[in-house]
Amino acid sequence: MIVKSAEFICSNSQVSKLPPPAKAEYAFIGRSNVGKSSLINTLTGKKGLAKTSQTPGKTQLINHFLINESWYIVDLPGYGYARASKTEKAKWDKFIHTYLDKRESLQCVMVLIDSRLEPQKIDIEFCNWLGEKGLSFVLVFTKADKQSSIKTDQTIARFKKALLATFDEMPQFFITSSETQQGREEILEFIDAVNQN
Ligand code: GDP
Repeated sequence: MIVKSAEFICSNSQVSKLPPPAKAEYAFIGRSNVGKSSLINTLTGKKGLAKTSQTPGKTQLINHFLINESWYIVDLPGYGYARASKTEKAKWDKFIHTYLDKRESLQCVMVLIDSRLEPQKIDIEFCNWLGEKGLSFVLVFTKADKQSSIKTDQTIARFKKALLATFDEMPQFFITSSETQQGREEILEFIDAVNQN
């Protein structure tokens, strides 16, 4: 898919104020610092579109970016910020779960995972929650340029093992790098295919 246009539409701190659910949405989510903003900028080819390196745990916002005037990238606030308080974490849970559970235009959740790390409990729990809710999701392993492909494959194998405790099969996954653009085309093709259906 060629990205001809990508524009920031709105930031919301309340699910009730989101744009009408009239266009397909792909939600991007992951632990703080996983590389979500960088990936959104890489996918859209617009460097400053999503703001990178924001202070984690600050105001929690859902950002809508309109792509090719026809579908949305939805940038969800990151989870797992170590210094977030219990109240902040609970607020995040409610906010995000309400969006994910109720959003009728949501096509797929893109769960970002740092390809260098051992499976993190919080990521596995989040995937399990998506599974329980019957929400469609794929895994996006980020920062693949930071290590050898053998190491990335090891991370994926460990993640698969952890997920197979609950899932019948490994969900579809992508290996990406915002430095080398690895995986960009594959993700855009995937979205294009879902949009066609
Ligand atoms: P976010 O908090 O998930 O939005 O993460 P950011 O996109 O702000 O990235 C966090 C840090 O990781 C920044 O310093 C980025 O430059 C770096 N980063 C993100 N993606 C990549 C990548 O694919 N490769 C490398 N080498 N660094 C990355």
